[in-house]
Amino acid sequence: MSRQPSRKPESGYKVTIQKAMKALRRKLPGRVFLDKKSCFDASLDNLRLSFLPDAVVKVQTATEVGAVLKLAHKYTIPVTARGAGSSATGSTVPLHGGWVLDVSALADIKIDTVSRMVTVGAGAITSEIQDQVEAVGLFYPPDPSSKKYSTIGGNIACNAGGLRCVKYGVTRDYVLGLEGYYADGSPFKLGLALKKYVSGLNLRDLLIGSEGTLGVITSATLKLIPKPQKRWTGMFAFKSEAAALKTAVALFEAGLNPSILEFLDRQSVSCAERYTGNLIFDDCPRASILLIEVDGRPVEVREQRARLLEFMESRALAHREARTDAKAEALWQVRRTCSQSMFSIADTKLNEDVVVPIQKQAELIRYTIALKKEIGLATPTFGHAGDGNLHVHIMYNRSNPEDAVKAKVGIKKLMQKVVDLGGVITGEHGVGLAKAPFMELQHSKAEIAAMRAVKDALDPKGILNPGKIFEPFEVWDHKPVQVKLPWDHR
Ligand SMILES: Cc1cc2nc3c(=O)[nH]c(=O)nc-3n(C[C@H](O)[C@H](O)[C@H](O)COP(=O)(O)OP(=O)(O)OC[C@H]3O[C@@H](n4cnc5c(N)ncnc54)[C@H](O)[C@@H]3O)c2cc1C
Repeated sequence: MSRQPSRKPESGYKVTIQKAMKALRRKLPGRVFLDKKSCFDASLDNLRLSFLPDAVVKVQTATEVGAVLKLAHKYTIPVTARGAGSSATGSTVPLHGGWVLDVSALADIKIDTVSRMVTVGAGAITSEIQDQVEAVGLFYPPDPSSKKYSTIGGNIACNAGGLRCVKYGVTRDYVLGLEGYYADGSPFKLGLALKKYVSGLNLRDLLIGSEGTLGVITSATLKLIPKPQKRWTGMFAFKSEAAALKTAVALFEAGLNPSILEFLDRQSVSCAERYTGNLIFDDCPRASILLIEVDGRPVEVREQRARLLEFMESRALAHREARTDAKAEALWQVRRTCSQSMFSIADTKLNEDVVVPIQKQAELIRYTIALKKEIGLATPTFGHAGDGNLHVHIMYNRSNPEDAVKAKVGIKKLMQKVVDLGGVITGEHGVGLAKAPFMELQHSKAEIAAMRAVKDALDPKGILNPGKIFEPFEVWDHKPVQVKLPWDHR
C-alpha cells in the first residue's frame, strides 16, 4: 500500500500538535489511535487518495465529540468527521492532517411509531435503519447504493441520493432535526423531533450537504412514511440511448409514477455483458436499457404495471419482468455489475454524478458519445434517469500520460456542457476534492463569497474539513492507492 505525503502546514504545527495530542489523550484516554493501520484506514475514502492524519479519535458518546472539537479549536487542529468513509469525492480525506473524528460508534436507533419518526446516532448504518423501520411497517426511502456501509451522518453531510429519489426525494427531504457540535465545541440543536418548525433561520438545512465543513452531527431525527406493500420490476431494451431517454420523459407525460427509473447506455451494457459472459437480452445484444420499479398497494402496482407494459409496447425492443424480490434481484444485478465491469476497459475512472433537466438527458448522452470520439476514451454512462442524475465515467489507463491528459480535458468539457444545459456538477456525491475545480463553472463569484462567509462565521479558524469544496484540487494529478475497500466485490 502506497502513501501520499501529508500536506499539513509545517511551521509551528509540530509543537502545537504535540501539545494538543497530549491534552486530547488526557481528556479521552483509550479513544485516540496513532497506529499505522488506524491512520491509514482513516486516510482515504472511495476516491482512494490517501493523506495521513496525525491521529484518529474514535468517540463513544456525543459529548466526546464536543470535547474533541473544543481542543481542536483551542489548538487550531484540522478535524475531519468520518462515518464509513465511502465518499466518492475525497470529502472524507484528512487533506491537511490533524484529527479524524470517527463517529461510527454513535449508532443508536430509536423508532417512534406514533409520530412516524426515528432518532438515530450519526454512525447508524443506512440499511440497518431501513431494516428496523420496515420491521414495524414504516419506510425510510433514501437508498444510496452504498447503504449497507454508509452512515446516516455521512448521508446527511453529503445529502445522499439513490435509486428511489425519483418518487420519494433525497436525504434532505427526511431530516427533521439535527444535534451536534459547532467547530468551537459548542452544541447545536437544529430542528427538533417535530413535523413543523419555522423558528429562526434554517441552519439545519445549511448543515445538510455541507460535507463536515460547518459542524459535526451526532444524531438526527428522520421522518418515516408507511412501507409500500408491493413492488414490481421491469427491464426494457431500446435500440439507442436517445430512444431510452425520450421514453423516460414520455413516461412522466403519460402520468406514470415509477419508484425507480434507471438508465444504462450501450457502453455500460456491453461492459456488463463482457464481465458476466451473458447477454442481458438474448434477442438484442448491446441495447440501451431502462430498469423500472413501481411500488405501493397491490392494486396500484397492478394498475401501474399494466399501463407501463402497454406504454412500452411500441417503444421497447424487448422486456423482462420480475414479480418476486428474488427475480427482481436478478434484474438489479445488471445495474450493480456495470460499475465494476468498466475496469475491463481501463484501470482508472473519473466517476461523475452530474444532473441535467430530464428533458436534456438525451442531449447530454449525445455529447458523451461525441466526447468519446473526440478524446479517444470510453465514456460509459448509467444513472437515475428519473431525476436527470447521470453517472458519466471517463475511463483511462493511469500509466499512459497521454490518456491522463485526455481524461482531464474531457472532464472539463463535460462539466461545461452540463452547466450549459442548465445542470449541476454534482447531484448526490457532493464536491469534496474531486469537483472543487468546477465550482467556478457552476457558481458566480458572489455565490462563492456568500458560501465562504457562512463557513467563516461558523468555523472562524477553518478547522473543519479544511481544503474541501473551495480550494481547487487537481484529482487526476494524484495517484490512487491500491486497496480493497469493504464494498469492492472483486
Ligand atoms: C459503492 C458505492 C456506491 C455509492 N452509491 C451512492 C448513491 O447511490 N448515492 C449517493 O448519494 N452516494 C453514493 N455513494 C457515495 C457515499 O456512499 C455517500 O456519499 C455516503 O453518504 C457517505 O456516507 P459515509 O458514512 O461513508 O460518509 P463518509 O465518507 O465517512 O463522509 C462523507 C462526508 O461527510 C462528512 N461526515 C461524515 N459523518 C459526519 C458527521 N457525523 N457530521 C458531519 N460530517 C460528517 C465527512 O467529513 C465527509 O465530508 C456511493 C459510494 C460507494 C462506495
